[in-house]
Order: sequence, then C-alpha cells, then structure tokens
Amino acid sequence: MRYPMLREVLSSLVRRPATVVGPAKVRMPEGFRGSPYLAVPSACTSCGLCARDCPSVCITLEAVADEVSGRQASVGSDAGATPRIRKLPVFHLDECAFCGQCQDSCARKAIRMHGTWDEAAWTREAMVRKPSAGALAKQVEVARKSDR
Ligand code: SF4
Ligand code: SF4
Repeated sequence: MRYPMLREVLSSLVRRPATVVGPAKVRMPEGFRGSPYLAVPSACTSCGLCARDCPSVCITLEAVADEVSGRQASVGSDAGATPRIRKLPVFHLDECAFCGQCQDSCARKAIRMHGTWDEAAWTREAMVRKPSAGALAKQVEVARKSDR
C-alpha cells in the first residue's frame, strides 16, 4: 500500500466514533464508587480515622471555623462565643485510589462517595477537595445531582 495513512483517513470518515461525548451521555456501571467528599461536615468529630485508614495517605485534616464546618458553636453556654476552629478532612484526589475506605471508616457517616467521574484538572491544586463553605455547598449539589 502506497498511502496507508490516506486509506486510514478515508475509512475513519465512515466509521462510527470510538469515543462518546461526555459527560451527559456517559452512564457509569453498577457499583461505580465515584469520589469521596465530606457530605455532613457538622457530623465530623475530627477523629482522623479516615486519614489513618486511607491506603493512599491522601487525606489531611485542615482547620476550619465552625461557621464553615456547619457545627453550631453559639448555643447554650457558648452563645455569643467566638467560633471555634475545627479540623475537617481534605481529600487530595490526585493521589486518591477511589477505594471508598474513608467512607467505610467514618463511624459518623460524614463521608460519602458521589458518582462524578470527570475529575480531570490542569493542576494538582485543583484536585484538592477542601472543606470551604463554597466548596462544600458545591460538593453537596454535585452529589445530589449524581444521586438522581
Ligand atoms: S470524616 Fe469521619 S472519620 Fe474523618 S475525621 Fe471526621 S468523623 Fe473522623
Ligand atoms: S477513596 Fe480511598 S484512597 Fe481515596 S481518600 Fe478515601 S480512603 Fe483514601
């Protein structure tokens, strides 16, 4: 064959695409775990079990104010007090194996896996799932959509 490339180009014009358009048309198989996120920040006791059990060592505990974590500091004798600083898990998804162990390890059911699969990013920093107020709201919203 003199022009093997030309033949390949012409045949690809009539072939069906080997890839699919995402994300709307992608259906994940049953049992797909997805990726971890802190679903119920107010339930987290900062015990660190999720970080201890993570086989990829990709969870760190990060200090956040109570107003971000969702726990009420200003009740009872604490009323009017300055919000305390608590530590909540931060997921470094660039090293995550998506195994779900953190969800299983959390006795408080604060961690959940949600079915998003398009986690690609240009930087490692963009793969860090932090418990900031905006990020938490976004995570919960994404999770709700993926659960539908
Ligand atoms: S998410 Fe669960 S396991 Fe992790 S620190 Fe909070 S309570 Fe502990
Ligand atoms: S899903 Fe697995 S690898 Fe990822 S943060 Fe949780 S325990 Fe670690």
